[in-house]
Order: sequence, then structure tokens, then C-alpha cells
Amino acid sequence: MLQQTTVPVVGSYYDKFLTKWPTVRDLAAAPVEDVMHAWAGLGYYARARNLHACARVVTNEYGGQFPNTIDKLLKLPGVGPYTAAAVGAIAFGLPVVPVDGNVDRVIARLHAIADPVKIAKPRIRMLAQQIHDDAPDVDSGDLAQALMDLGATVCTPKSPKCGLCPLREKCRACEMGQPAQFPVPAQEKSKPTRYGYVYIAQNRKNQVLLVRRPNKGLLAGMMALPTTDWVPALPKRDPNPLKFKKAATIGEVRHSFTHFDLVLKVVAGRITMADQPDGIWYSAGNLQDAGLPRVFAKAVIFIKGDGPKR
Ligand code: SF4
Repeated sequence: MLQQTTVPVVGSYYDKFLTKWPTVRDLAAAPVEDVMHAWAGLGYYARARNLHACARVVTNEYGGQFPNTIDKLLKLPGVGPYTAAAVGAIAFGLPVVPVDGNVDRVIARLHAIADPVKIAKPRIRMLAQQIHDDAPDVDSGDLAQALMDLGATVCTPKSPKCGLCPLREKCRACEMGQPAQFPVPAQEKSKPTRYGYVYIAQNRKNQVLLVRRPNKGLLAGMMALPTTDWVPALPKRDPNPLKFKKAATIGEVRHSFTHFDLVLKVVAGRITMADQPDGIWYSAGNLQDAGLPRVFAKAVIFIKGDGPKR
């Protein structure tokens, strides 16, 4: 849950998940739609699917107990080298060092590594592991958390507090007098922008038409507003797939995904339930409970009062 985000953002989601599904078996038994709904707003929705799939594997194949070897942990859905090492070290005391962004920074500074982290990652992993190998009696979980906490609180990205750091005698970046210049930044690739239309279709009961996105691809299986495809240039004419008789552009949404930025024109209009007999109609006043991903939550902010007039 904490990948790509921060503790303050995750806290309420974490509490909600543990209240709803206190054990891995409870999570495995939940419908995936409920898990996606509870995740809505946290982004990177593949994590929610993987979390649920992982709970099912742990329940069905391991009787509800996580496996305690790195090889088996790595086979669980959504578990990569970092998560496997973190669970292995902290939960099972395996002699491994998880390398997250904080540990990357500490190691890159300790050794004044001249390559960006992405390129230097295998070397960083090897050097982090060396710390454990040099102190085999140290508890693996304590070492993992100490390194992560050092990066989070002392060896911070912009202003490392070298005067407080227990590693300063050994730190090459500190010795060079420019610790914040490490890790060396990677050359930024500019992200492409995609464009499209997103539709707020309301009926006379002040309900809004929602759709469920396809089970594959971005935001798979999530509740959503209807949209056009997201393409490199905005079509000059709104293709009006819902066949609004009268529509108005009421705003614009900008949202950044990992691999592209998105600009959506927000178009509102009225349709009848008969126009969309299979539609999912949701009360406009309760849309915040619909489990919409953030890009769509940004669009519904434009709904005012009774919505657009026909
Ligand atoms: Fe980071 Fe400074 Fe400690 Fe080096 S001495 S690890 S730069 S806080």
C-alpha cells in the first residue's frame, strides 16, 4: 500500500482495510470489486488487484500463512525484490536487506555512486547486502528498519543532517562536502500528453451515469465516468457517444499517470434512463462514495446544483 506514496496519505486506507478485512483470509474472501472500491483514490490500482490476488494465493496455497523463503515470496502476485526482502527480513528474520528509495539514497551517498539509481541498482543492492554480511549477528528486521529510517529522517533528499548521522565517518559524499548531490539524478524523459472527453450524463432524478471499466488496462475494473479513448490530440468535435441532445463543456481535468499526462474536457448533458437501460446510475450527491479513481473524482467536482439543463 505504501509503494509510490506516503504514510499520511495511506494511514486512513490502511485502517479501513484492517477494519474491513482483519485477516488475510477475510481479504481473500472479499469480492475484488469491494477491494477496488476501498482502494479508490490511492492510485496505482494494480496494487489493489495484486493485494487481493496475493491474499487468495496465501489463503489457498499456504493455509493463510505467508511463506517464509524469498523464492516463495517472490512468486506471490505483486511481490517484487523489495517487498520480498522487506517481509523476509522484518517478518522472518531472513538475512536480506530490502532496498527502498531511502536505502538507495543512503548507499548512493555512502559510496558516492556516480551513476543514477536506476543504472546503479544492482550495485546498490550488493552494497546494502554487504552491510548485513559484515554484521551477521544484527537482527535483519532491525537493520532493514534502521537503514530505511536513517534515509527517511537523517539522510533526507534535500538537507541531509550529516552532523547527526552515525555513518558520517564512512560516508564519501559527506567527505566530499556535497552529500545532496547524490544520488545522481537520472535524465528526465518528458511524458506524453493524451486528451479526451469525459461525460457527466444526468437523468431527471439527479443521478449520474457511471460505467465499469474493462477488466484489463489502466484503472481496470474500476467505476468510472464514460469517456472517449485517450489519444495524442483532442478531436476537434466531441464525438458525443451518449447522444446528448444538448451538452455543455463545464470544465477541464488534468491528471498525471505514471507514463502519461491526461487532459480531459468535461462535458455535461442530460439523458434518460431509457437511453442507457444497462447503465449504473448513481446519486449525484453521493458520488464521493462511488469508489471513483481520482481522475474522475476531479471531474465530478464540476457538477453543480441540479446539473445541466436539457
Ligand atoms: Fe547521509 Fe550525511 Fe549520513 Fe552520508 S553522512 S549517510 S550523506 S546523512
